[in-house]
Amino acid sequence: MTKTKAGLVAAAALLLTLVPMWVTLSAWLKHEQVLVEQAAGNDAMNLAIAFEEHIQSVVRYADALVQDIREDVIEDPSEFEEIVKEETQVYGDMVAQVAVIDAQGKLVYSSLGPVNGTVDLSGREHFQVHRNNPSQDKLFISKPVLGRISGIWSMQFTRPILDKGKFAGVFVLSIPVSFFTDFYQKINVGPNGLIALVGQDGVPRAAASKVGVNTALDGIVLARHEPYFASDKPPQGLYRGLSALDKKDSLVAYRRLMQAELVVLVQLSPVEYLASFNERRQFLLFSAAAISLLLVAFAVFIYFATRLHLGNTAALKQSHSALRQLVSIDALTGARSRSDFLNALDNEFSRAKRHGTELSLIWLDLDHFKRVNDTFGHPIGDIVLKQVATLCNGVLRAHDVFGRLGGEEFGVVLAHTSGVDALEVAEKLRVTIEAAIIQTDRGPLQITISCGVASLSLAGDSPSQLIVRADDALYSAKHAGRNRARAAPACVEQPTQSQGRSADW
Ligand code: GH3
Ligand code: MG
Ligand code: MG
Repeated sequence: MTKTKAGLVAAAALLLTLVPMWVTLSAWLKHEQVLVEQAAGNDAMNLAIAFEEHIQSVVRYADALVQDIREDVIEDPSEFEEIVKEETQVYGDMVAQVAVIDAQGKLVYSSLGPVNGTVDLSGREHFQVHRNNPSQDKLFISKPVLGRISGIWSMQFTRPILDKGKFAGVFVLSIPVSFFTDFYQKINVGPNGLIALVGQDGVPRAAASKVGVNTALDGIVLARHEPYFASDKPPQGLYRGLSALDKKDSLVAYRRLMQAELVVLVQLSPVEYLASFNERRQFLLFSAAAISLLLVAFAVFIYFATRLHLGNTAALKQSHSALRQLVSIDALTGARSRSDFLNALDNEFSRAKRHGTELSLIWLDLDHFKRVNDTFGHPIGDIVLKQVATLCNGVLRAHDVFGRLGGEEFGVVLAHTSGVDALEVAEKLRVTIEAAIIQTDRGPLQITISCGVASLSLAGDSPSQLIVRADDALYSAKHAGRNRARAAPACVEQPTQSQGRSADW
């Protein structure tokens, strides 16, 4: 019982401290993670916006250059080489090559050097697109190709050359792939992040990461269901998932460039942008675990302390009740002690007064008890006293109050009992004792008692007055020859008396 109670106290202490602590901590960590993810999302989108602007400006600039040189070529073909030289000198690292393809797809000019033999480019997409749509003077941006002459990966910015409205060839400006991805150098997407330029045809144009400009994407075609292609998705967005480019778990910001039919992608690695949060989280979880351990140790301490306390309290209660028993029970006879008996009389008296019920008191005394002691010795006298108490208890009801008032004198409080009935009880006691044969080491012996009976009657009566009247009645029983019960005059209209033989000690 003590163990269970102590266990409950310790468990309650644990629950009240551990549960709120862990609930608060996990809610806070969740909230923090959401904030960190949001901040990373903002970063990725801002980088994507900047990347998009970079691409847009390169495309605009390249197209302006294409149109500019093409115009010069058409207006003054003799000056063409000079113009190209001038322009390519000015835009050195942006222009990998300027080339002209004739209407049959043959390379007729390359800024990289004289064209030796026949270089057939009629199979190239950028040639076919213009040849098949001669009426459309539109910029075409090709997939990255490995230049046959330049030997570098480049994207072709092309427009058709029209002679009096007729398709006369294709003007080509090759821009190295690296020129688009040099933006990567200006930003920080982390060691595992990357930026990429993808055609809306699903073909990646270029990707740059820590590894460098990745042109090994050659041959890859991204699935149409990627969010940045899906036409039902907004033209820019953010999502977390496996990257189609490097198959890593990533936070991806994308933006579709409508006119250029390109998509810019900025990928951040959650492992990186969550790194400092994860460190903090680990530290907090470790601290919380340490605190939990301390709390468990504290709960164990509380358990043992409570057990000790409850054990002490139980022992204290036990000794208290033992003490009370000692005080309230007469050790020799088992009857109530004098003080306990008088207390009970006070209580019953007040209750009877309050409720207007009857109450009687019997005062009884062993006759010539001194002679028992004198004749058989004190220990035999004790046996007789004990036996008389047992015999009285046998006659009385459970709720009658039976006490030893001292020496060989006893009292009985009878609640809800009139004087007449109490006298009957006294008589019954007297007869029982008279008839009893008490077995002792010195042989069987008999004894008698005398009883005085008083009952509650007058207003202004008190417990002590009741005792005095009962004692007086006892005295008169003794005086009348002992072994009899007498009622005090005030408690019944006609004093009743009973008499038996007197023990002749
Ligand atoms: P009476 O009929 O007038 O009451 O005579 P009595 O001898 O009973 O009364 P008395 O007061 O002269 O003697 C009471 C005796 O009871 C005296 C005392 O030794 C004895 N007594 C009192 N307490 C105890 C007790 O605890 N054990 C024993 N054995 N005797 C006791
Ligand atoms: Mg006596
Ligand atoms: Mg006496």
